[in-house]
Amino acid sequence: MIPQKIIDQFIIKPDSKVNLKQHPTNGLETAAGQEFDKNYIKDKADEILTKNRVELDAMQELLYASDSHSVLLIFQAMDAAGKDGTIRHVMSGVNPQGCQVFSFKRPSPEELDHNFLWRYMKSLPERGRIGIFNRSYYEDVLVVKVHPELINEPQFGKPDEKFWEKRYQDINNFEKHLARNGTLILKFFLHLSKNEQKKRFLERLTNPAKYWKFSDTDLPERERWKDYQHAYEDAISATSTKNAPWHVIPADHKHLARALVADIIVAAVSELKLEYPTVSAAQMEKLVAAKNLLEKTNDDSAA
Ligand code: ATP
Ligand code: MG
Repeated sequence: MIPQKIIDQFIIKPDSKVNLKQHPTNGLETAAGQEFDKNYIKDKADEILTKNRVELDAMQELLYASDSHSVLLIFQAMDAAGKDGTIRHVMSGVNPQGCQVFSFKRPSPEELDHNFLWRYMKSLPERGRIGIFNRSYYEDVLVVKVHPELINEPQFGKPDEKFWEKRYQDINNFEKHLARNGTLILKFFLHLSKNEQKKRFLERLTNPAKYWKFSDTDLPERERWKDYQHAYEDAISATSTKNAPWHVIPADHKHLARALVADIIVAAVSELKLEYPTVSAAQMEKLVAAKNLLEKTNDDSAA
C-alpha cells in the first residue's frame, strides 16, 4: 500500500479552493525537488497495482455477498489523460459480473428533455456492485460551462454564476442522497499537463493503431484549455465533500496514476469493514444436514 501520508496529498479537502497549477501533473518529484527515476517508479507502481487488483477482486466478492453497499467511481479528465486505460488496468482483475462501466457522450434529444441528472441516475450501481462512470454528470458543469450553448433549458435564460451554483448544489445533494443510502463515491480527476496531452495527441496522429482515438473536436477543445481548467477548479472546489471526495491524480505518468487510483479504491473499500453475512442457528442446521446428506451419497450407483 502507498502510505496514507502520500495519498492524502491527492485528496481535496471539503471547502478548499482548488488551484490546479499547484497540483503536480507528473508526480515524479521527490521532496528535495529532484525527479524519481521513471523506470523505478514504473516497476514500483506496477507492483502496487498488481497487489491491489487481487485485493479488489476479493473485495468485490465481499461487496456482493454482504449486499449492503455499492461503489461508484467517477473519472473525469481532459482528452487523452488516460481514463480508459486507468479503468481497464485497475478493474482488470475484478469479476465482470460485479462491475459495470458507463461512458457518457453527448446527451441524446431524449436525455436533454429531462433534468440533467436523469441519465446518470439510470446507470447507478445496484447494491453489491461497482459502477464506473467514464465521464459523468460533472460534464454538465464542465463541457457545458465552457460551451453554454449546449444547455437545453431556455426557461432559465442565459446561465450566470447562480445557475452553476445551483447545479453544484444539485450534485452535492444527489451525492449526499447516494452516500446516505449505502453508495461509496470516489471521484478522480486525472490531471494531465498540456504538454503531455500534445505528446499523446501526436502519438494518436502518428500510430495507425491509434488513429481511431483522435477526434475532430480534440484540437478545438485543447484551444479552450484554460477555460476547462477553470471549470474543473470551480467544480472540484464546490463538490469535494466528506462523502464524495475528489482526488486530483497526477496523470502524466500512466503507471503512477493507475497505481494511485487502485490504492485509493482499495483503501476506501476496506474502510467499509464489510463482512460476509452471518449464518443463523437454523440456517447452520440446514447446512450441516445438507453436508451429511451429500457425504452419504454414492455417485457410482446413481442412475
Ligand atoms: P478520450 O479521453 O480518449 O478522448 P472521451 O471520454 O473524450 O475519450 P469521446 O467519445 O472522445 O470520449 O468524447 C465524449 C464526448 O462527449 C466528450 O467530448 C464530452 O465532453 C462529451 N460529453 C459527455 N457528456 C456530455 C454532456 N453532458 N454534455 C455535452 N457533452 C458531453
Ligand atoms: Mg475525447
